[in-house]
Amino acid sequence: MPDLRLAAAITAGKAVAALSRALGAGGGTTMPGRVARRFAPDVTARLARALRHGTIIVTGTNGKTTTSRLVSHILGIAGLISVHNRAGANLAAGIAAALVQHSTIRGEPRGDVGVFEVDEATLPLVHEALRPRAIVLTNLFRDQLDRYGEIDIIAGRWRAALGGLDRSAALVFNADDPLVSEVGTQHPGVRLAFGIEDDSCGLGTLEHSADARYCYRCGVPYHYATVYFGHMGVYRCPQCGTSRPIPLVSAREVTNRGLEGTAFLLSTTQGSVHVSTTLPGVYNIHNVLAASACCLHLGVALETIARGIGTFTPAFGRAEQVRVNGRAAVLLLAKNPAGFNEVLRTMLRAEGTVALIAINDLTADGRDISWLWDVDFEMLAGRADRLVVSGIRAEDMALRLKYAGVDPSVMTVEKDLARALDAAAGASNGRPLYILPTYTAMLQLRKILQRRGAVRGFWED
Ligand SMILES: [Zn+2]
Repeated sequence: MPDLRLAAAITAGKAVAALSRALGAGGGTTMPGRVARRFAPDVTARLARALRHGTIIVTGTNGKTTTSRLVSHILGIAGLISVHNRAGANLAAGIAAALVQHSTIRGEPRGDVGVFEVDEATLPLVHEALRPRAIVLTNLFRDQLDRYGEIDIIAGRWRAALGGLDRSAALVFNADDPLVSEVGTQHPGVRLAFGIEDDSCGLGTLEHSADARYCYRCGVPYHYATVYFGHMGVYRCPQCGTSRPIPLVSAREVTNRGLEGTAFLLSTTQGSVHVSTTLPGVYNIHNVLAASACCLHLGVALETIARGIGTFTPAFGRAEQVRVNGRAAVLLLAKNPAGFNEVLRTMLRAEGTVALIAINDLTADGRDISWLWDVDFEMLAGRADRLVVSGIRAEDMALRLKYAGVDPSVMTVEKDLARALDAAAGASNGRPLYILPTYTAMLQLRKILQRRGAVRGFWED
């Protein structure tokens, strides 16, 4: 006996998705979910439960998209089709939409496992419906939107969201992040910590943007034996002895190849394997470790995981390789000081730096751009060959660079994004071009590149 209410919800959701595609409304990533839930409020739970291999949730400030895509990719090599919410549609409606799109009218899934990226505010709303097999916590930074939010309040929200987890869900968490570890070590079920075990990845000192320098128990500053970036590192409280958990999945013998990515020994409780990834920067090592630990927990063989890591190509604005007027360029989303610093550091490893920095201040970027003062642009002084500054707040960005000691003669301010792209491509002259946009600037740049035939629409990925 088919469930008519569920069938109506799925049909309505699919119709709305088809309609918004036909109208070119841009992917229709949440509306189908909203409509389906109006017909059957329990549509998410019903469809999620039908997935043979259950669901995985990936949450945290940075790296959610890369980590969840890498999990899907590895599971694909292991022969499992995943249902995955895309392109920042990480609210409850986006998850319902993804499930509806991957179900038959009868509610039979056209997939084996759900891999969903969820922000910490949405986690309590979807956790109950999804009943995940594993939750992956990447890291906890202050987003530009949370600039005035105390990091402790944000950690508190996480604690509240994760406190209600039952022990059946495994918690995969970043040992190098003290805030994440604090939450992770309190989980009553299976805990899988991951982290970097290589001092050569260290910076030496905490950056301006480091968020969590203080022990949550005693309020005294942590001692860091190594700092990887932001507040990530090997830390210990000198007063109460709270320290970084020993990671069960770790990266050792790291070789950093700049923009070409990294190679390292992936060490696990089930053996070690050499892996290489085209994902650049130390921050992406965490994403690779998170995905590896998650897939190990799901029973994927280590060799399959290594193959998945080696064949994965980055997604939508996350170190995406594009061509601008025939020149090779890489698109790196800039969304908060810690992420921006890591992107700049990765960029400076290459010979000759030509970059386009595009800063918007629309709602999705955060209206307040004073976070730019927390980014260590000082590292660009004397080391950038050519910088094109664009976006709605191009002038503010240029001012910030001037204060950072960047020579104004290497800077071009061009508010129009299309012209800025041309200027940057022209200046690159065979050197790699880095495009560093905020979120809405990235969407606009991608639209321009798409019109020029250089990239696909993000809903076509
Ligand atoms: Zn302490």
